[in-house]
Amino acid sequence: MELPFIEPYKIKMVESVYTSTRDQREKWISEAHFNMFNLKSEQVTIDLLTDSGTGAMSDRQWSALMLGDESYAGASSYYNLKNAIAEITGFKYFLPTHQGRAAENVLFSTIVKEGDIVPGNSHFDTTKGHIEFRKAIPVDCTVDIASDLTALDPFKGNVDLEKLENVLKENPREKIACIIVTITNNTAGGQPVSMSNLKGTRMLADKYGVMFFLDSARFAENAWFIKTREEGYANKTIREIALEMFSYADGMTMSAKKDAIVNMGGFIGFRDDETFRKASSYNIIYEGFITYGGMSGRDMNALAQGLYEGTDYDYLSSRIGQIDYLGSKMKEYGIPVLEPFGGHAIFIDSKRFFPQIPDEEFPAQALAVEIYIEGGVRGTEIGALMADRDPVTRENRFSGKELVRLAVPRRVYTDNHMDYVAATVKNVYDRKESIKRGLKIVSEAPILRHFTVELERL
Ligand SMILES: *Cc1c(COP(=O)(O)O)cnc(C)c1O
Repeated sequence: MELPFIEPYKIKMVESVYTSTRDQREKWISEAHFNMFNLKSEQVTIDLLTDSGTGAMSDRQWSALMLGDESYAGASSYYNLKNAIAEITGFKYFLPTHQGRAAENVLFSTIVKEGDIVPGNSHFDTTKGHIEFRKAIPVDCTVDIASDLTALDPFKGNVDLEKLENVLKENPREKIACIIVTITNNTAGGQPVSMSNLKGTRMLADKYGVMFFLDSARFAENAWFIKTREEGYANKTIREIALEMFSYADGMTMSAKKDAIVNMGGFIGFRDDETFRKASSYNIIYEGFITYGGMSGRDMNALAQGLYEGTDYDYLSSRIGQIDYLGSKMKEYGIPVLEPFGGHAIFIDSKRFFPQIPDEEFPAQALAVEIYIEGGVRGTEIGALMADRDPVTRENRFSGKELVRLAVPRRVYTDNHMDYVAATVKNVYDRKESIKRGLKIVSEAPILRHFTVELERL
């Protein structure tokens, strides 16, 4: 018989999983004001809040930490990272930052001013936050099919090039700060962007004379989808594909906490030295000198190693295969999930799960709460809470999209853990009619409210 595909690693060190009773969890979630971010990790059994910074580093990454060079300027760790970035992304210039949003802060301080427009596919929440904080406007030009949660399109993360061109046509060039394309498109459900779409975006960027940046947190997962779904790429390596993806952009921001499998870190890559030079001043103010910017030498070393491991085809196949395993199991149970499954998470459609709960009562948050109470599984809401209020009208942005995201950390959980998660959600699904009402907001922050919002049950 054909031998099964296996994880291309084995486990050298383990960490205990916390268990609890339903009564305990009822009490804890109420004390946390029904906000997942307020729970203590000891109160969580399987933590699928995020795949950000939660991955398991390898023995080689831990060894790289020991070889970290903590010199203030010109550390060997900086050059290790510079070489890895140049090899994998092709970007000659880079600035280290402490994480992805810090990269956004430095880059947008350099190129975004009040009143500017930043078109792209769906902007990640911190990206949107950094743009709106500068009184600029992110314009979402994602393809319409992305909002159809079950349409089996292979590249639902794509930019609608016609929408993008309209934005570029209707606005003066100096108002367009840059185009930002997020790979994979997290907000649309971890959906990939095709190579031909990146190529098309480049052509528009050239035609209208604007810069084009990639928000690259999950670029390796995106490359895996291109290899397995897009014609002409099956025989290319992940690194060849990644190099081609980046070749269409003027630069990139990176949250290394995702596909570079480190617990903290990020960077900005640049093709031209002029933007790099301008951004360097902001990096020095906000992050640190340009050869460490927010990271210690050891962290840059582990990140350099992680970039190589994160672009390994077998690793990516097992990673994305585990997401598929979880998604298939939930589908088998009849649970409404977003399809095709994304690269880093399974998204549950709370509108179909809880049709009785109106958008105003935050059905996705209500579902996340029930899943936690049922099995101690922590997911997160991707819905009206996260969409925040409109910065001008201050109205809630109810888009009708109410998802619970179960994001799977890299190399951390086994397929048995995935079985436990699927069973937990199934148990909630079996008693879905008994949940009549959702939640209401008691207090919230003016921006990125979902991190600190306090809610109560209706
Ligand atoms: C995580 C993420 C960011 C922000 O990065 P942090 O490291 O969390 O600051 C930006 N964009 C995307 C697509 C991300 O996934």
